[in-house]
Amino acid sequence: MRIAVVGGGVNGLCCAWMLCSQGHQVTLFERGALMQRTSRASSKLLHGGLRYLENFEFRLVREALRERDGWLRRVPSLAQPLRLVVPIYRNSRRGRWMVGAGLVLYRLLAPRSPYGDFLWLGRDELLGRDPDLRAEGLLGGWEFSDGQMDDYELGLWIAGQVRDLGGEIREQSGVSQARPDGTVVTESGESLEFERVVNVAGPWAEGLAQASGVKLPYHLDLVRGSHLVLDRPCPQAYLLEVIGERRVFFVLPWKSRTLLGTTEVRQSIDEPIECSAEEEAYLLGAYRSYFGVEVDPVQIIERFAGVRPLISSARNPNRASREYAFHQSDRLLTVMGGKWTTAMALGKQVARRIRKRRGPGS
Ligand SMILES: Cc1cc2nc3c(=O)[nH]c(=O)nc-3n(C[C@H](O)[C@H](O)[C@H](O)COP(=O)(O)OP(=O)(O)OC[C@H]3O[C@@H](n4cnc5c(N)ncnc54)[C@H](O)[C@@H]3O)c2cc1C
Repeated sequence: MRIAVVGGGVNGLCCAWMLCSQGHQVTLFERGALMQRTSRASSKLLHGGLRYLENFEFRLVREALRERDGWLRRVPSLAQPLRLVVPIYRNSRRGRWMVGAGLVLYRLLAPRSPYGDFLWLGRDELLGRDPDLRAEGLLGGWEFSDGQMDDYELGLWIAGQVRDLGGEIREQSGVSQARPDGTVVTESGESLEFERVVNVAGPWAEGLAQASGVKLPYHLDLVRGSHLVLDRPCPQAYLLEVIGERRVFFVLPWKSRTLLGTTEVRQSIDEPIECSAEEEAYLLGAYRSYFGVEVDPVQIIERFAGVRPLISSARNPNRASREYAFHQSDRLLTVMGGKWTTAMALGKQVARRIRKRRGPGS
């Protein structure tokens, strides 16, 4: 079938990849350049999402763990295992046994994973690894595995798979309408006919559906997340509680530097997607509370932000689901939500849905 995919982030690329691998003739439309928006502004983690267990999102975590392992196995040059530590303090909201129970569940959800092992590290071991870590009240910490990737390069690797399978990728090709009858109208005024159209434009998917006259049963909550890259070495990857909040944040080694993130700020699609001064201060404050160092502004070598396209429902963005959802309207399939880690599973589901709807003789 001739299929149009709208959106050149990781989800669009994985949809195109899976559709091409089923023999479809795919054209992907991207308004700008590939992998420049949300998919390049991630925390670079291929992870099951330990904290989603608190929201009982077992299906999502199981799928994400399986997908994490798939990326680590498939593209070891761009995705590697990462050992993270969750330090436990006397006044941590999540105590030693609670985090330990979460890790037992994490392992049970991926029973065949080679990355399921975790262990308790004593206080001295943690401070020996990282003398900057706040010692006061420190009891020890849990060490466990997830994955880390180069999100941009891995996205371009997926684009390479699409091209190798004969898919066409059109950059600088915005779509103004993706209609249920299979018509794609480009921003330059071209009108093209397809047998199927997949709208997977991330945070812009809802707006494109509206512009195409499609009423969706879901809405997207757009929640900005910002990161800072500090010109400081990072001897250990951490998952840390923000002091006085239930939120967690990451301190991660990233290309010999420190990646710090993230925040959660609701915004509209029309507002600029950039790290605000308040978010910068918030992240530096969270970092200071564990590592005691004042970061000189010249040490912030990069600030980046993206918006999570979350399926609307929860009032608290920290609890909103990272699941994805589909809406079929005749030849148009709209895809909303999803994680980087689960992009390939999402692509497979899209390919399955298109195969199922392919009636006899069509
Ligand atoms: C701060 C933050 C941290 C995150 N960290 C992680 C993480 O560590 N691990 C993880 O698994 N997930 C993470 N995520 C989630 C993950 O990054 C996103 O779910 C994923 O990148 C979304 O990809 P996407 O392709 O749907 O959207 P995008 O990457 O935004 O791609 C959509 C594309 O569609 C294009 N587009 C839009 N409208 C049109 C149009 N009309 N015509 C043509 N093209 C159009 C855009 O230009 C864009 O390139 C994070 C998200 C955020 C915001």
